[in-house]
Amino acid sequence: MSFYQEALQANARYAEGFRHGDLPTPPSRKAAVLTCMDARLMPDQFLGFGIGEVHVIRNAGALATDDAIRSLVISTNLLGTREILVIAHTGCGMLTFRDEEVQKQLQQQYGADASGFSLHAFHDLHESVRKQVQRVRECPFIAKDIPVYGLIYHVETGRLEEVTQA
Ligand code: ZN
Repeated sequence: MSFYQEALQANARYAEGFRHGDLPTPPSRKAAVLTCMDARLMPDQFLGFGIGEVHVIRNAGALATDDAIRSLVISTNLLGTREILVIAHTGCGMLTFRDEEVQKQLQQQYGADASGFSLHAFHDLHESVRKQVQRVRECPFIAKDIPVYGLIYHVETGRLEEVTQA
């Protein structure tokens, strides 16, 4: 059975006992988390929050891309969040390649120009976290009294390492 089919079955079971249909849109813990899409990261589990409590924005590398920042601007200005956590992690796939290599590979495989297709690979995890936090901080549409924390989640131990705050 494909994941799709299994997922539909799992959802049917989930919906049977569903009791959260009346939650408001703003997250009750007033926090937003920007983290990586890595399958080993379950932020609700390692940060201890539940349904309706926290915004989670994910992409490859926990990067403060324009789109991640768009979500954070909406989160903080329209939905009342007052803290931002940027959480990268050890063993991130983004540390394992260079943009130029993958661009070349994509170009060969698909026959389309990939030279301008940025993947935003990085080679220093701590430096990347600081950079993402800085990018969020520099956004003029995120209030300056909202703290932006930068952390690294260790996939080997489940522990968080505090890296920076802005
Ligand atoms: Zn990752």
